[in-house]
Amino acid sequence: MSNAASADDSIGTVASGESGPRGRSKLNRFMKVLGRQYDTMAKDKGRTGSAGRFGARYGRVARRRVAEIEDDMRDDHACPECGKDRVDRKGTGIWQCSYCGYKYTGGTYRPETPGGKTVTRSIRAALAEDEDE
Ligand SMILES: [Zn+2]
Repeated sequence: MSNAASADDSIGTVASGESGPRGRSKLNRFMKVLGRQYDTMAKDKGRTGSAGRFGARYGRVARRRVAEIEDDMRDDHACPECGKDRVDRKGTGIWQCSYCGYKYTGGTYRPETPGGKTVTRSIRAALAEDEDE
């Protein structure tokens, strides 16, 4: 587990247990230190997300971007056929609705990309021109 990112983040909730017998104050202080450590560890885990598998490698920014993209990838996506939020990624650029079974191609990491939209529009326009002739 990495503790490289914990230096810049000093915010941490302290473990509860403020009230107690006098004899436990030393233990409480110890627990506060422990609690702070555990909190930053938990926070780091939440921040790295799916990129946690890289450990401390590749740098924070690259890891964060991977986590963001993979979070998007695993989100619920709306089906272009039935409209249900049931589209899952089946492989590189392959998406399928688990409700109606509609399978289609899209972006590698998301069902639809801006570039893909442009291409679809161009194809529709070209087909419409053909019909006019
Ligand atoms: Zn569907």
